[in-house]
Amino acid sequence: MAQKILIDMIKLRSAMVENSTLTLPEGLFYQSPNMNGLKTIRELASFRFTCRRCEDAPCISVCPADALEKDEDGVIARHTNLCVSCKSCVTICPFGTMMTDFFKHHRNRDLFYDLKDEKEMEKFIKACPAGTVTLTDDDESQEGNIYRLNEKVLIKDYLYITEKQ
Ligand code: SF4
Ligand code: SF4
Repeated sequence: MAQKILIDMIKLRSAMVENSTLTLPEGLFYQSPNMNGLKTIRELASFRFTCRRCEDAPCISVCPADALEKDEDGVIARHTNLCVSCKSCVTICPFGTMMTDFFKHHRNRDLFYDLKDEKEMEKFIKACPAGTVTLTDDDESQEGNIYRLNEKVLIKDYLYITEKQ
């Protein structure tokens, strides 16, 4: 499928602010390398594009379970098997990088959609708040704040550029 999925993180955050009880569906890629536990697209996108990559990352220091670390590019990764969902990292992050629902222990399989499967991808789009996730033929666009997460997913967010990038 040539089309990509475009996830608007700006609209998703607004939707969560407007409705604090909102339960967002989770898009993920099963059998993906670099999964290191169950990783949702929103979490990967937040760490990659929203995180300010603090030098002495307070989220890592505060984590009681050693569940957070930086990869070789300075991008935070969470070991979901170690995380105890205490949300200390959410509280201490000065930039609101993490959405609090990353740390819910979802037991409802219906919330997860395998984005490698075209039908599941369609269901995921329908389950997300209107206008937050769409299909597109477009590609990355710095002017549009749209960036490539992988070959199938584009993320719209306000990118934080550091001197090192
Ligand atoms: S929510 Fe998870 S990753 Fe965050 S501080 Fe607690 S244990 Fe660590
Ligand atoms: S504290 Fe927040 S912005 Fe800083 S590295 Fe951790 S997640 Fe990123």
